Amino acid sequence: MIPFLDVKAINECYLKEIECAIKEVLRSGQYILGEQVKKFEDEFARYCGVKYAIGVANGLDALSLILRGYGIKEGDEVIVPANTYIATLLAVSMNGATPVLVEPNINTYNIDPNKIEEKITCRTRAIIVVHLYGQVADMKHIWKIANKYNLKVIEDAAQAHGAIYSGKRTGNLGDAGAFSFYPSKNLGALGDGGAITTNDDELAKRLRALRNYGSHEKYYNLYKGVNSRLDEIQAAVLRVKLRYLDEENEKRRRVAEYYLKHIKNNKVILPYIDMSKKLSHVWHLFVVRVGNRNEFQNYLQSHGIQTIIHYPIPPHKQNAYSELNSLRLPVTEEIHNTVLSLPISPILTDEHVNKIVQVINDY
Ligand SMILES: *Cc1c(COP(=O)(O)O)cnc(C)c1O
Repeated sequence: MIPFLDVKAINECYLKEIECAIKEVLRSGQYILGEQVKKFEDEFARYCGVKYAIGVANGLDALSLILRGYGIKEGDEVIVPANTYIATLLAVSMNGATPVLVEPNINTYNIDPNKIEEKITCRTRAIIVVHLYGQVADMKHIWKIANKYNLKVIEDAAQAHGAIYSGKRTGNLGDAGAFSFYPSKNLGALGDGGAITTNDDELAKRLRALRNYGSHEKYYNLYKGVNSRLDEIQAAVLRVKLRYLDEENEKRRRVAEYYLKHIKNNKVILPYIDMSKKLSHVWHLFVVRVGNRNEFQNYLQSHGIQTIIHYPIPPHKQNAYSELNSLRLPVTEEIHNTVLSLPISPILTDEHVNKIVQVINDY
């Protein structure tokens, strides 16, 4: 069986370095907000090209804390793409604000900028762009809209670590960026982890306190903060893996380009990418669309190829968002009914990639 993604095998590429990093933490006696987190924050900020990176407990908290840091609260509206992973909406709801769903572009799967303005009201405070499946959203168009209506631009970069757009990395393409280091992400830890990136001095200061009980200084609390810290072991592991991120993303690109060139089956719609901007995609997922998805997925399974659906049910159809269940979002629904993610990773062998292409072309 060709697994969809083998995180164990990816981490084993760096086994010695990861073991050394963990041992160093063990021996340091400092397990929360110590040297490793500080160094990772510096290195990740430098990598993204921003002034500040702030380690937090996970990607959802990263998003939610950015909104809180900007004072977004009950009564406010935040624009989000309708076909995102539900975490993007939950971050808005956690702050008592209302997520306002906008349809994606059917080719890029990213938020359709042409459909944003009609959803802006006097209560709109921010746009959360999601660089879905690893591809940077149409930022130039989004910046224009945000400037016109004075909205914050927040990046959900949980699937797009290291992508480059207009000479800048994700995390540096808006007012603030949220990253997840969940083990299966392009930069994955050995547990939960997340980070916020920003060039905003005030926001960075507030977030450093908010993630740690609202405290700038031990036992002095400016805000009713939360406990959302990146721990030392995860930071130490992430420092090792950050060094290989560009190399790994390049390997993902090679797999994606092979698929794009060699999959030839008119039942299978390949993902769209503007090849003049190929660095703007880090291929967290390689997502095709197929009319008869169940049959196609079973066919691949029977030929030893594991696939996953990202995502089978759109947020507005979830029980958790019953207030949105009656929305009509035909592009989003079409995407959720037809998408299927093929195996892609930095360690997928040529032999496996070849086999996957052959099996798909024979379908
Ligand atoms: C993974 C993910 C998140 C949430 O990250 P966690 O670390 O699991 O909280 C948010 N948004 C998107 C688009 C994601 O893929």
